Amino acid sequence: MSNLIGKITAELVEKDSIIPDHLVEKINVNIRPLEPVNRDDVHIRAMYVVSDQVNSFGGIFPADEHQKLIEHLIDSPVLVGHRKDSLPIARNFHAEQVALNDANWVKVYFYWLKNSKAGEELKNNIDAGIYKECSISFIFSFPECTICGSDIRDCRHRPFHNYETPSGEKKEAYFNYRRIDKVLETSLVYRGSVNNTSITKELAFQKADDNSSLSVKQPPAIPAVNRIWNFDAIDQQARYLVMPAYEALPVILEKSGDVIQLRRQDGAPIQSNHISKMLGTLRLPQINFACDCRLIGYRGKERQKISELGKFVCGEQSSVSRAELKMYDLINLDGVDVLSLNALGRREKLEELFGAGKGMLPPVELISGDKLHQALKKVGTRYGVEILADDSTERYLFTKRKLAPAIIRSREECGGRFKYNLAVSIDGKELPAASALMSPLDLSVGEKIDIEATSVHETGDTIELLDPIISDWYGQYGCRHTLSSLHRPHGKKLLGNYSLFPISQEEFHLALDYGDGANAEHYAIRHYSPRLLDSGRMFLMEKSEITGQISSNVQGTGRIISFTNNDGTLVIDLDGFLCGKFAIRPARLNGKMARVFCKVGNI
Ligand SMILES: [Zn+2]
Repeated sequence: MSNLIGKITAELVEKDSIIPDHLVEKINVNIRPLEPVNRDDVHIRAMYVVSDQVNSFGGIFPADEHQKLIEHLIDSPVLVGHRKDSLPIARNFHAEQVALNDANWVKVYFYWLKNSKAGEELKNNIDAGIYKECSISFIFSFPECTICGSDIRDCRHRPFHNYETPSGEKKEAYFNYRRIDKVLETSLVYRGSVNNTSITKELAFQKADDNSSLSVKQPPAIPAVNRIWNFDAIDQQARYLVMPAYEALPVILEKSGDVIQLRRQDGAPIQSNHISKMLGTLRLPQINFACDCRLIGYRGKERQKISELGKFVCGEQSSVSRAELKMYDLINLDGVDVLSLNALGRREKLEELFGAGKGMLPPVELISGDKLHQALKKVGTRYGVEILADDSTERYLFTKRKLAPAIIRSREECGGRFKYNLAVSIDGKELPAASALMSPLDLSVGEKIDIEATSVHETGDTIELLDPIISDWYGQYGCRHTLSSLHRPHGKKLLGNYSLFPISQEEFHLALDYGDGANAEHYAIRHYSPRLLDSGRMFLMEKSEITGQISSNVQGTGRIISFTNNDGTLVIDLDGFLCGKFAIRPARLNGKMARVFCKVGNI
């Protein structure tokens, strides 16, 4: 029977303000730190992790399994589950069975070092009751039914249901956690962050990966990267880590024992002589880890395109002569997934492991959302910046060019060229592109590519790409990029809609509908061209009374995010077909009052 992962939340963390000497001794004996610790070096606290009472899942940790659990607990890491805190800084070093409130409990002691900011913060948060609960994850393989003794996945009994026993009495079914194999982690949980009261009918375990000893399990999926071309989606108040962006292949570097492996983002190992050679030159720390990395291709000092790098990795003819690896994020440390912890803590750990100034880490700026422009000036490349939210799992790639990630869904050869049907990932869904793209490039179905377009607009069930060209492609290596944040300005209320439609060859109308029930305002734009508008050209514009059918011929639509009126100049912030800030300002033309329409800056 396969392994299962159990996860139990318990309630208390006990204060032990006076540390008995025998406990400090246990640290030195059980953990064997490089330098033995003494009582002034450490904080020690204890938590009650499991008991032999029925938990909310219907599971019981029978007292005769406690000794086994105690053995597994020692030297397991303690995570701090709340993102404001740093990485695993505490370790379980001793555990014992104790009786409390008519139940048998396992009480586990953990310690961490004093004299670090994170260490003192943790102490204060525990003592102030901020961390009030703890949870334990472990592997076990036998959920034993308390009615019939079989594996409860196989018998007909279900936790919390009543059954009649052979002796005629009614008994509720539960299950015992048996054959405990490993403790994955214990974590301190921010008060209230776990809903502990709901009684689930599901069994409280999930299937562990088959064929996995857990130390070599695949790292968890890195959250998808949101492509953005402005900073509207960024929370002005939140903290971000900003790093230079390169045209690069996103890859995972994993070290497990002596095995050092580069993986694609989907987990598949990358087999390549060039890469093996490069990995052999890296100076890596002793500890096991997995990192989210960027593989960058160079010829001399010039960075090369992603597609050229892909060929280089495959051993094909390529403009790339060497590849470099940069560590952008820490995914797993010593068998513990750390992606749910805060980004700054992960970066600090990376600096500790790889050395801040040794070239394996990209430079970083820690800033609040309203200072992104400054960070862009400091660490931005001609490509853009990568942005990691400190306090959430959001991550962004800001490109200075409008580069949209797409996937090839089907293709047709037409006269030596190829007609590609594309899709774009938004909110976990794949939206098909409204029209096909022609290209002489011979690319495969399923391949991820970067599209450069004048405008990208989501219409609900399709995506409109205006003047799309294929800018680059990822080969077999892929990326997990989406456009989910493109049309989602942070905290901004949408004020209405607009549409742009042609009246004649030379004249377009812009209809602004503020959604307040009043009629839309219509403006006629002379000699309109999307390319010229994007490049900053001003267009003559007149207010117009529109008549006749307009809806059948709309060229593009979108939403009005904001508008301000300054001395007669109307500045409107639009998303969708026309994306960005635009101004309608008064002008004098041939002695007459007129208006001009133009774009006012990209960012
Ligand atoms: Zn049963």
